[in-house]
Amino acid sequence: MRIRIWFKIFFTALLLLAVVRCTQLSPLPNADVIVVGAGISGLAAAIEASSHGASVLVIEANSVGGGHAVKAGGLAMVDTALQRQRGIKDSPDIAWQDLMLWGEDANPYWTRRYAEESSEQVYDWLTKIGVRFAMVLDTPEDTVPRFHFTRGTAVNVVVPMMRKALQDPKITFVWNTRVIKLTRSNNMITGIIGQDERNDTTTRFHAKSIILATGGFQNNLKMVRANWPDSHLLPGKLFKGAGQYATGDGYLLARWAGAKMQHMDRQVTFYQGVPDPRNHSGATAFFAQNPTAIWLDNNGRRFVNESANSKTIAAAAKNLRPMNFWMIFDANGSRRLGIRGAAWLNNQTIRNEILENTVITKKALNLNELAKQTGIPKHNLHASLEVWNRMLDVGTDYQFGRFTSDKDLQNIKPISTAPYYALRVYPMTRKSMGGPAINIHGQIIDAMQVPIPGLYAAGELTGVAGINGSHGGSGTFLGPSVLTGRIAGSAAAKYSNTSVNLKVRELDESAEVVPDYGLPGYWHYDAVHKLVSERAQTCDKCHSEQMPMTMANKPAQMLAQLRTCNNCH
Ligand SMILES: Cc1cc2nc3c(=O)[nH]c(=O)nc-3n(C[C@H](O)[C@H](O)[C@H](O)COP(=O)(O)OP(=O)(O)OC[C@H]3O[C@@H](n4cnc5c(N)ncnc54)[C@H](O)[C@@H]3O)c2cc1C
Repeated sequence: MRIRIWFKIFFTALLLLAVVRCTQLSPLPNADVIVVGAGISGLAAAIEASSHGASVLVIEANSVGGGHAVKAGGLAMVDTALQRQRGIKDSPDIAWQDLMLWGEDANPYWTRRYAEESSEQVYDWLTKIGVRFAMVLDTPEDTVPRFHFTRGTAVNVVVPMMRKALQDPKITFVWNTRVIKLTRSNNMITGIIGQDERNDTTTRFHAKSIILATGGFQNNLKMVRANWPDSHLLPGKLFKGAGQYATGDGYLLARWAGAKMQHMDRQVTFYQGVPDPRNHSGATAFFAQNPTAIWLDNNGRRFVNESANSKTIAAAAKNLRPMNFWMIFDANGSRRLGIRGAAWLNNQTIRNEILENTVITKKALNLNELAKQTGIPKHNLHASLEVWNRMLDVGTDYQFGRFTSDKDLQNIKPISTAPYYALRVYPMTRKSMGGPAINIHGQIIDAMQVPIPGLYAAGELTGVAGINGSHGGSGTFLGPSVLTGRIAGSAAAKYSNTSVNLKVRELDESAEVVPDYGLPGYWHYDAVHKLVSERAQTCDKCHSEQMPMTMANKPAQMLAQLRTCNNCH
């Protein structure tokens, strides 16, 4: 009898202990869906998941949303209302052929799907959110014009998306928090661990589905080099040409979860990178253009049609040894130098910091002196410019066929007015076209093509589903990022609605998935305030909506701040 009582007490105590332990280790999900990254694909995923009834947590490493889209231009979309209005006859068939031809080895399923669905799923959807497309431009790779622009850059695409998400009570943002690990119970991904970029504290968040929308890895030169295509030589000097947070975290997280990784060597590299004089690391570059310039290799020879499409330029530039070249222009042409990026909209800034910077640009009163400064053989420099000026006179570029219309010829003048300039440009990273493989619902799949339960991906992280093949096209990242974001958002919301039982009893997390690159949590704040002081602006230019100033963390404050994005972007 006494033994039975002791047994009862013992088992009740055991049961109580188990219950206490379970409650400790089985927290309720913080949301139905967690989206990692508030770029264009993450925002599309969040808005879509919410529209299917899910509560959504968006975890973003930065203090602001938008990702790379705030630096981008336009979107390629097929057979849209705007194209029809302008009398442009496009169709999924024509677009599919264009994309397959340009990309060479694009994913046929996703390319077809994008060609068929972009009008409704991207153009119409964005228009309903408040995006106003105003222009459709022609590009070398498309049979008909389909490169859509707002009255400005793609910041006008993501700002309405941010506004929509911030106004949605089912979507909560967690800013300045970098996801460094995933958590897993048995085979199921159950949450993430985020690290506050400003004070290094970590927090766990749980959800039934996690969507990775962390973008590409083009700011991580180690990763870029490790995945460089075997088919061509790695440049000796390679600059970073993508945003701060393109560190490749999502690739490491997906790989840890068992994802099948594919096409990591498909990367868009640009060859017109000017080292950023403001970046003390000396590792970053901006894209330079000058329609009046000719391009000479280090031997002083022209090597490509400077107005050719990106594929032709890349093919020619890859063969240069060393893999960099000079943009040569004269006093008149110096006014036409453009550098892409918010900080370089003012011509005087370009003159002061690029043209008058002797480390970056060589400037001379005659060609002999320019040859001496650049190391280009004198005779070759003279000969190349003589030939160029003569070809302009006769109106035919018999070397590379650059002038295709009278307009081209009117825009380009002989290079003959001192001072002469030589700007050295280098290869720079830009966009990733490979990553974790996804199925048609945006679920990340493993090497056996089996979906990893609870884990989704969208956007550039997936190499925008292989739509570009091996050659990035014009505007073929943003649109597919929206489409894959919406697909993952919808599927993740439906999955979280099923009777999945979130148990976090055996937390399985690796020691280190994402290394600490020491990124400062205040970088956007610093960059913004540097520009404000350079431009001698007053605080109310940006803060008038929220005086007195406070940290913009609450949705209403972030909404007010959104109006100021266009001051810089
Ligand atoms: C200068 C430039 C110009 C471009 N122009 C064009 C163009 O004209 N047309 C076009 O189609 N494409 C263009 N692109 C490419 C296009 O902008 C991107 O492919 C697209 O914006 C990718 O969107 P995304 O949401 O997938 O990723 P991103 O925009 O990179 O967003 C990812 C987000 O995830 C966050 N993040 C990353 N890691 C973590 C982490 N561990 N935890 C939490 N958050 C994290 C990042 O901070 C970021 O906000 C351009 C790219 C660049 C760099």
